[in-house]
Amino acid sequence: MELNGLSDLLGISNPWVLMDIKTQPKNKVIDVFIDFERGSKFPCSVCGKQTAVYDSSYKRIRYLDLFDYRCYLNIKTPRLDCNKDGVKVAHVDKWSRKSSHYSLKFEALSIRLCKEMSMKAVSVELGEPDNNLWRVFNYYVNIKIKNSLDLQSVKRVCVDETATKRGHNYVSIFTDYDTGTVIYVVEGRKKEVFSMFYGWLWDHGGHPGEIELFSMDMSKSYQAGKREYFASAQVVFDRFHIKKGLNEAINTVRKNEVQTVDELKKTKYIWLKNEKNLTENQKNTLEEFLVDCSLDTVKAFQLKSGFDHLWKVQSLAIEPLMESWIEKALRLNLKPINRFVKSVKNNMNGIMNAIKTGITNAVSEGLNSVMQLARSRARGFRNIDNFCNMIYFLGNH
Ligand SMILES: [Zn+2]
Repeated sequence: MELNGLSDLLGISNPWVLMDIKTQPKNKVIDVFIDFERGSKFPCSVCGKQTAVYDSSYKRIRYLDLFDYRCYLNIKTPRLDCNKDGVKVAHVDKWSRKSSHYSLKFEALSIRLCKEMSMKAVSVELGEPDNNLWRVFNYYVNIKIKNSLDLQSVKRVCVDETATKRGHNYVSIFTDYDTGTVIYVVEGRKKEVFSMFYGWLWDHGGHPGEIELFSMDMSKSYQAGKREYFASAQVVFDRFHIKKGLNEAINTVRKNEVQTVDELKKTKYIWLKNEKNLTENQKNTLEEFLVDCSLDTVKAFQLKSGFDHLWKVQSLAIEPLMESWIEKALRLNLKPINRFVKSVKNNMNGIMNAIKTGITNAVSEGLNSVMQLARSRARGFRNIDNFCNMIYFLGNH
């Protein structure tokens, strides 16, 4: 191979010289040897002074493939004898980071692939152990995303929780409502996550006292954390979570009634799904049920449209409408519904805020897919930090 041409392709210039290329056709490997010119001086890694070379050894790093050959650069790396700092390895950062055995371009490629496939698949594609690739990935996320977050204008925050796998470890995710970007991911879903978010804000130019509101689910621990660390911020309960409570109550009513009414078997989703998402068959079944208003399930179901309506009315009308909805609900005298009403009353402030502001965690509808994607991208992730970093990565574009 013509060495000069390859020199240009690899961006090799003074004091570096392309010395040799060795190919192993059987293993499909190319080794490129890069030396520095004799008599070159390099800056001491401690004091920066141009210093003569003491001795040297090759550092081998994986480069981008050359045709279908795996390509390695073997870079002659000098140790310098500084009269102040003694003998130290020089930092040669032209092709790779100090501690990495991959070239910068190879690292960038592995990160790009993470946008498209799981880390396991990236590992197979590149033929490198996933542990090493996670290390590169985490370095990148720390430097490019986490350390460079500027949170000074964050005012409204959505908090969500997700499990690494069904029922496994939980992480809490803080999103900037106004930009839709993930700004903090932390293990756990206890109130302490708010104390940690408080510190995180400080560390990234944010002002905890200027956070105006949190949109979140009705979990006691989130509420306690908010009260303790962000006393002046408003709470907005996420509409999806509020409605989920009503759906669960309706489903419990149905489950109780199924004991005596056979036709209610296997009808769970008819009552829970949005009507527009029902199949033709399901719609017909629902209509048949609705003709007979004596079923508890039907009565409970009919509370739904009134509850949804609250989100559509002028703000002055909301409170009286809420009161009459509650009366109507309590008149049914069904235990699961009564329990739901009780939780509405206990959380009235945050529910009213949700209705009046129209704010929901649905900015995070994007987030839902991010979380799902994170679970599949991080499949086989070896620790929860990898999972958290995958959420930062996918939630920051
Ligand atoms: Zn020195």
